[in-house]
Amino acid sequence: MKKIIIIGGGVAGLGAAYKVRRAAEAGHDVDCVLVEKDARLGGKLATDIVADPEGGEYVVDGGSDAFVSTKPAVARIARMLGLGDSMVPAREENKKTLIVKGKRLVELPDGIMMFAPTKLVPLATTSLYSWPAKFRMALDWFLPPKVRWAEGETAQDHDETLESFVVRRMGRESLDRLAEPLVGGVHASDPREMSLAATFPNFLEMEQEFGSLIRGFLAERKKREAMRKKYPPKPGAKPWAFFNTFYRGMQQLTDGMADAVGRERIITGAAVTVVDRDGAGWRVTLDDGRVLEGDAVIVATEAWAAEPLARHVEPAIADLLATIPCSSSATVPMAFRSEDFPSDRQWFGILSPIVENRPLLAVTLSSSKWPDRSPEGRVLLRGFIGGPRNQHLLEADDAEIIETIRAQIVDLLGMKADAQPVFASVYRWNGGMPQYTLGHLDRVDEIERLSAEVSGFALAGGAYRGVGIPNCIESGERAVTKVLADVGIGYDEDTSPKRPPGL
Ligand SMILES: Cc1cc2nc3c(=O)[nH]c(=O)nc-3n(C[C@H](O)[C@H](O)[C@H](O)COP(=O)(O)OP(=O)(O)OC[C@H]3O[C@@H](n4cnc5c(N)ncnc54)[C@H](O)[C@@H]3O)c2cc1C
Repeated sequence: MKKIIIIGGGVAGLGAAYKVRRAAEAGHDVDCVLVEKDARLGGKLATDIVADPEGGEYVVDGGSDAFVSTKPAVARIARMLGLGDSMVPAREENKKTLIVKGKRLVELPDGIMMFAPTKLVPLATTSLYSWPAKFRMALDWFLPPKVRWAEGETAQDHDETLESFVVRRMGRESLDRLAEPLVGGVHASDPREMSLAATFPNFLEMEQEFGSLIRGFLAERKKREAMRKKYPPKPGAKPWAFFNTFYRGMQQLTDGMADAVGRERIITGAAVTVVDRDGAGWRVTLDDGRVLEGDAVIVATEAWAAEPLARHVEPAIADLLATIPCSSSATVPMAFRSEDFPSDRQWFGILSPIVENRPLLAVTLSSSKWPDRSPEGRVLLRGFIGGPRNQHLLEADDAEIIETIRAQIVDLLGMKADAQPVFASVYRWNGGMPQYTLGHLDRVDEIERLSAEVSGFALAGGAYRGVGIPNCIESGERAVTKVLADVGIGYDEDTSPKRPPGL
């Protein structure tokens, strides 16, 4: 029996363990053990069910709160786990994004796709941008690409920062007012350093294919509309939404995976301190003194946690892992009495651009975005603080952070200055968001090339080829295919989508 040791119980590590179990169920002589340093499994998927003092409960996601349905991995796994009915789409009727501008909140104009305007009238009438900025954005239609890619070249050969790309295509205001909080915000990244090839290669590809982002997004909208026509929702089928979650929070997914793996195969509350080769096999030492022996190791931790573990395995891999910076952030869920909260709740969230200089990155109105997140008569929201330019704000204690977010909400929404939340908490994600800086994909290629040469060893997780939950699951699954092949087991699955995007 071959034994695979998996380090890290986030969605990537659990995704890997679940695939090993599927290989075993398919008749291969293989098993796994997973080690997670925290008491809770799930990593950045962390849900708490919180009781309201006056009755009822909140479903609070402290980490990830959504997955996109355009990438099929989450829905594929959820269905295998019997969680198909637990996936819920965002409440599209409340889909509105507000952007902070001075003391006001400005609605994201209709027709904006990512940060590119595709409808003339909403762009002309919005107060989000100045008139010169609007003209500058429209120039994108006419500006030629910076370079023409040679045959066979890809975005990776022409990597560029988000700042450089957006400023040259659409101007500084487009970056500052929307691209930075929206596109950079997804990665909690600094646009001055964020690699487009590693995060949104489609922007660079659109420039090549259509000569303009606006034209590219218009073509994409046409394609989406054609898809909707081709695959109209079946009567009674769940509505399709871009953002989706699980009815009892995102941790339902990782809990479901852990149950399917078998809790007896999972060690929690113990950190791996050393990974060593042991003849043809591997030896993994835990901080409680236990030593595990196996035939292969998958390290599915954050990059900074993988670095010391890879050091004994192949120092060159460790050196490269050290070049992946990670930023810290915190989410701050809080609930208000409905009577203390403005009656217009038909919005999903607020984005606060860095140029606004507020100690707040974003707000999600969880009880409007998702069904059944809070009891009757309560509003649940979640503030987001930190990111690469505001790391210092995280030095404050929890009470101070809660007060900072409360004061921002009260100010932005025009609530009574002394409105107090009925509950609030802080989830800190120290080093929680890998930063894909310029040239990231070249470094990941090299990490993978070096790892391929180490039999029975693989890395997985959000630090490499996508931070989104579907990417992390797939990264764990690829690691399993690799190490199983190393130990002489040929096992892979057909993961190509059998149905159009959706739930
Ligand atoms: C605040 C926040 C919000 C996000 N929102 C979304 C979202 O809405 N949608 C989305 O798709 N993505 C979102 N992301 C990104 C996504 O959640 C992560 O990229 C993904 O969950 C990472 O999964 P992972 O398994 O690679 O790593 P992690 O979840 O970081 O798991 C790694 C695990 O390894 C463990 N570990 C570390 N060192 C050791 C050791 N030595 N021994 C044993 N265990 C160890 C850690 O404790 C951790 O549990 C968000 C991220 C953050 C931080």
